[in-house]
Amino acid sequence: MTSAPARTALDLTADLPVPDLEDFYRDLHRHPELSFEEHRTAARLAERLKAAGFETAEGIAGTGVAGLLRNGDGPTVLLRADMDALPVEELTGLPYASESPGVMHACGHDLHVTWLAGAAKALADGRDAWSGTLLLVGQPAEEAGGGAAAMVADGLYDRVPRPDVLLGQHVVPGPAGLYAHVPGLIMSATTDVEIVVHGRGGHGSRPETTVDPVVTAAYIVTRLQTIVSREIKPRESAVLTVGRIEAGTAPNIIPATARISLNLRTQSEAVRDRMIAAIRRIAEGECHAAGCPREPEVTLGGSFPATVNDPETDHRIAAVHREVFGTATVFDSGPAMASEDFSKLALGELPYSYWFVTSTPAETWEAAPGADLMEKFDAVPSNHSPHFAPDLSTVAPGVRTLVSGALACLV
Ligand SMILES: [Zn+2]
Ligand SMILES: [Zn+2]
Repeated sequence: MTSAPARTALDLTADLPVPDLEDFYRDLHRHPELSFEEHRTAARLAERLKAAGFETAEGIAGTGVAGLLRNGDGPTVLLRADMDALPVEELTGLPYASESPGVMHACGHDLHVTWLAGAAKALADGRDAWSGTLLLVGQPAEEAGGGAAAMVADGLYDRVPRPDVLLGQHVVPGPAGLYAHVPGLIMSATTDVEIVVHGRGGHGSRPETTVDPVVTAAYIVTRLQTIVSREIKPRESAVLTVGRIEAGTAPNIIPATARISLNLRTQSEAVRDRMIAAIRRIAEGECHAAGCPREPEVTLGGSFPATVNDPETDHRIAAVHREVFGTATVFDSGPAMASEDFSKLALGELPYSYWFVTSTPAETWEAAPGADLMEKFDAVPSNHSPHFAPDLSTVAPGVRTLVSGALACLV
């Protein structure tokens, strides 16, 4: 037997304006905007929220949008979509590809905004069927980090009520039409670290008069690879990636400094602390070994906390998704190494559920090499790829996930 929220969700989304939502999606996809520059996207979303009957607050942290619909007694449920695009040159060849050179919705946040706009209308049109308050948030700058925290710092919860529960979703690769729920840790914490190696510069022909920071940086980069393989328990998951090395200006000059930028992904505070301590130890040790005139500088940059679903909330949302889409479509993907700032909207204390919606077009999935799901998963374009192209067939289901999730939390 179907529960009341699932039945209501199917009713409220039976006649979604799919062609209109697809047009909206294609328009957003053509006009991607980088973090904190989402002016056009925010205005388009706010228009739709207002048209659906929401009061809106705009310009939160620059481009953030909040839409509020009070509809009697009951809990306040926050639905969130991030709005920003990436500095990626689109190579999909789609007829609605980006018209902004070097900028692309390569993470699918345009689809997130479309889903949110569709859910806003469906839930507002069906307000006789539920009671409570809906709070819809269009968030800037998930990619560059800091968008969620900036909205909170700019008084989001002074302008609109604090939610009792928060829901968010992300498009991911995988055969379109699956919903990944994890009743706990679903995404990792991320931490950026910067290392500056101080050597002594000089002529490339007279290394004996210098301390070469390039060679020292190379040792550091190599030795950093032993942190995950030799210092972290095999059953813990962690990633350390050196994403940037900068040093020097010419082939025949030994520079005075070298800079290493790296990123960590961790699933517990203890592992993060241990890795940061190891990075400091290795940087200092290699600089001592090279005879550097000064200690290296090791500084922590941006970080997101881990995304940890409230088990009770996530079980409830997963259950309604099973009813709406079929039992076989909902699965536990386990924690991902990706990171998100969604949890910042939850202030470290409010319960939330965050899930993934797979969106690889059927023909792309079929054509991908690989014998099983995981091999194909690794072969199809992932988020941030210049070829990332979610299937339009996921426009309506992504509205249904939000509508049914919201109804499972409202009364
Ligand atoms: Zn992304
Ligand atoms: Zn994303």
